[in-house]
Amino acid sequence: MAIATVNPATGETLKTFDALNAGEIEDRLVRAEQGFQLHRSSSFARRAELLHKAANLLEADQDDVARTMTTEMGKPLAQARAEAAKSVKAMRWYADHAEALLGDERPDPADVHDSGAVRAVVRYRPLGPVLAVMPWNFPLWQVVRFAAPALMAGNTGLLKHASNVPQTALYLEELFRRAGYPDGCFQTLLIGSGAVEDILRDPRVAAATLTGSEPAGRSVASIAGDEVKKTVLELGGSDPYVVLPSADLDKAAKVAVTARVQNNGQSCIAAKRFIVHNDVYDAFTERFTAGMAALTVGDPMDEDTDVGPLASEQGRSDLEELVDDAVHQGARALCGGRRPPGAQAGWFYEPTVLTGVTPSMRIHREEAFGPVAVVYRVADLDEAVALANDTPFGLSSNAWTRDPAEQERLARDLVAGGVFFNGMTASHPGLPFGGAKRSGYGRELAGHGIREFCNMTTLWYGPEEE
Ligand code: NAP
Repeated sequence: MAIATVNPATGETLKTFDALNAGEIEDRLVRAEQGFQLHRSSSFARRAELLHKAANLLEADQDDVARTMTTEMGKPLAQARAEAAKSVKAMRWYADHAEALLGDERPDPADVHDSGAVRAVVRYRPLGPVLAVMPWNFPLWQVVRFAAPALMAGNTGLLKHASNVPQTALYLEELFRRAGYPDGCFQTLLIGSGAVEDILRDPRVAAATLTGSEPAGRSVASIAGDEVKKTVLELGGSDPYVVLPSADLDKAAKVAVTARVQNNGQSCIAAKRFIVHNDVYDAFTERFTAGMAALTVGDPMDEDTDVGPLASEQGRSDLEELVDDAVHQGARALCGGRRPPGAQAGWFYEPTVLTGVTPSMRIHREEAFGPVAVVYRVADLDEAVALANDTPFGLSSNAWTRDPAEQERLARDLVAGGVFFNGMTASHPGLPFGGAKRSGYGRELAGHGIREFCNMTTLWYGPEEE
């Protein structure tokens, strides 16, 4: 895949970039290691000062970087601004909390005594340069949610960003440089995915995190496994959105629209499968479909646009194939199911609601990465749980019910990294984020995320006898 900025709203190639050659990659690896040696021994206070500086710079740049993101991957401009603001918030959160999250832990004195020590401590030490392979869908946020904790822990970052967001990737490197980080602490590698293996096998690279599709995750995890290097994988999702009779239906239907189409429908944690109890099925589906059909599809730079283009031509044809396969096998499109009539350029697709989807249809099991919702009718809670779990994915899930017993049942039985009740799944710096099953493993954000790339070191002190 060429490294280039191609505007998805027009299909126009705006800028192309050469991939780094072997010598340039070697230079970056040397600097990553040297940067790590300096950064790992810095104090938390110094690291926090640098990260606050980066956050302030990003806050000041918010409008410009939002435009860059929208130009590169097509998200509506207001959502791009919100992404920048959220990234600033996460940087500040880690700058303020990392020292407490990584403070020395004191094991139970009885266990310390039993081990023969006079004292023992568990210390969170950094691992080294971490390779981050990142997707285009939240080109700033995905990187920041890796970089902020990694840098606060004393690691350094090597970013291999998606090939269609090179200007956002270069902006990030420049941001950390301007903030005053030592050379090599955060570098962008303009490389194709074919160059990942050699870098991951390099002894100077300590670990890797990948956010993206399952094939990419499988490849990176198997290479890292071969090298016995730690990985965190944040992969695809097909989150269920369960609506039960006690739900506030107006709110459930309104939030469902946002949950499905935010980021032009290209979010790993978007609700994709709407599983609705028979008693409220008609009322929910009518309101949800009306909300989807009323969305404005168009130029993502226009403040009135709700849904912009898909990020790539390939992404749109993948989505079209999923919908066409379902419709040819008998599914019904209550709205959408096609490109906007008359659209000449750009990779637009109408918000779509499908019913009558059966297990033989690809969309029943595969991730629909675009503004396409599938609505299922279920008879009871048992059927809802079974259908919600009938997917290879397990990223997050949503459930609308005001009944505490139903909430407890769903909290116990939905197989996913999150269950969000009466609201849509969203990430927050202070809450752990990650998946189960084919959605990956490991966690980002909160204390759980910052500890993923730490060497949890046991310090054991024996009696100092004469
Ligand atoms: P993708 O094709 O897997 O790309 C993601 C990144 O992986 C890009 O940097 C890509 O580089 C690289 N890559 C691709 N194949 C690779 C390989 N074999 N070895 C090493 N690197 C490789 O994913 P996408 O389609 O762009 O992104 C959408 C997917 O990401 C969806 O499935 C979505 O659900 C998932 N996602 C998950 C989360 C989460 O937190 N769980 C968040 C966001 C997105 P190139 O661009 O150069 O190919």
